[in-house]
Amino acid sequence: MVNRLCQSREAIVHDQPGVTRDRTYQEGFWGDRDFKVVDTGGLVFDDDSEFLPEIREQADIALEEASVALLIVDGLQGITAADVSIAEWLRCHPCQTVVAVNKCESPEQGLAMAAEFWSLGLGEPYPVSAIHGSGTGDLLDHVLSLFPPKQDQLEEDPIQIAIIGRPNVGKSSLLNTISGESRAIVSSIRGTTRDTIDTLIERDGQAWRLVDTAGIRRRRSVNYGPEFFGINRSFKAIERSDVCVLVIDALDGVTEQDQRLAGIIEEKGRACVVVVNKWDAVEKDSHTMPIVEKEVRSKLYFLDWATILFTSAVTGKRVDSIFALASIAVQQHRRRVSTSVVNEILQEALSWRSPPTTRGGRQGRLYYGTQVASSPPSFTLFVNEPKLFGDTYRRYVERHLREGLGFDGTPLRLFWRGKKQREAERDLSRQQIMPS
Ligand code: GDP
Repeated sequence: MVNRLCQSREAIVHDQPGVTRDRTYQEGFWGDRDFKVVDTGGLVFDDDSEFLPEIREQADIALEEASVALLIVDGLQGITAADVSIAEWLRCHPCQTVVAVNKCESPEQGLAMAAEFWSLGLGEPYPVSAIHGSGTGDLLDHVLSLFPPKQDQLEEDPIQIAIIGRPNVGKSSLLNTISGESRAIVSSIRGTTRDTIDTLIERDGQAWRLVDTAGIRRRRSVNYGPEFFGINRSFKAIERSDVCVLVIDALDGVTEQDQRLAGIIEEKGRACVVVVNKWDAVEKDSHTMPIVEKEVRSKLYFLDWATILFTSAVTGKRVDSIFALASIAVQQHRRRVSTSVVNEILQEALSWRSPPTTRGGRQGRLYYGTQVASSPPSFTLFVNEPKLFGDTYRRYVERHLREGLGFDGTPLRLFWRGKKQREAERDLSRQQIMPS
């Protein structure tokens, strides 16, 4: 079948050590698309004798990288228990699956033979004959329709999005729901290191790069060390992302580990959506959501700018909204506001509430402010003396900026700069220009 799809006799064997070892690739094309076919070897699940676990492991890795999985079954033999177990296993993967029923040479009987395989629950079975080549054109047409759009069809650079959370909160379940719903899974691409795999998907014309999906998925047949799902891995994913989806288990509430992850997101200045997952498993009435939201907010007070979403990876409820909210957060994260608008808002803040005065009668003066960076939006506020502005007043100004300008889903950075600081800096730059 692989030779038929690629119309070649030669298999290209990548014999590198590590992840790609022992998998056979062949290249082919159909219409205007090139593709690679990875031959994984025969899958057997209830037998751990020689090589079989390794074959499963290789198939797992191949699926991680694939756009479409092709399940080949034997039409002459009919459906077997092994087919059923492979179908079950494939359903646990986010990859889209097509069933090809081989040995259907006879056009009349072929359709009837293939029909039996509807019961695998993987959609329409395609009757084909690897030896005669019949049916493979229709099969390839269908497979190609599931391919991701070509890179150049995507309008913008992908937004990097990281799904973050403790083990068992439902990250991989969410990922499966998301990938399953995405008609166009672009591809799995190597991340920064050998063991990171990102997934590129497309939603409403926007490309998203799901950072380190290998670290999210738990693969039963692959044995990774304890570090694989650890905090360091999350840390790297946060660093590589534009926006983080922080997943919390609705049944456990916010734990210390969740707070730690949230702290890193804030510290790194990433946009964020907080997702309270497993909402289906919570006993609730109409008051539950606001009560839980309040609890989550009080424990994640340093992410008070993030939107909270209640989802269920099991029922799929609101999973779709993750992207809508992440998209808003990223827009805000990248936003730039003109100096005149910033100063209008600051003026207003000052007129509602003047800066504090010390006991000695010295009052803080805020001269003007300007946005100096985005991602996250950062502002420098020029004042007479930063010391005169305590935390309460600083928080008040930040709150006022948010009320006036929005910035939902992104942290802000405010730098308070005094006169003395500015003079010192000016002196320093003069010295650099005119060395005496
Ligand atoms: P991960 O370690 O964060 O990737 O978590 P998993 O996705 O592996 O999920 C851990 C367990 O929680 C599994 O048994 C899932 O079936 C279950 N789970 C995940 N999401 C939900 C959900 O929305 N509702 C319920 N009731 N269970 C869920």
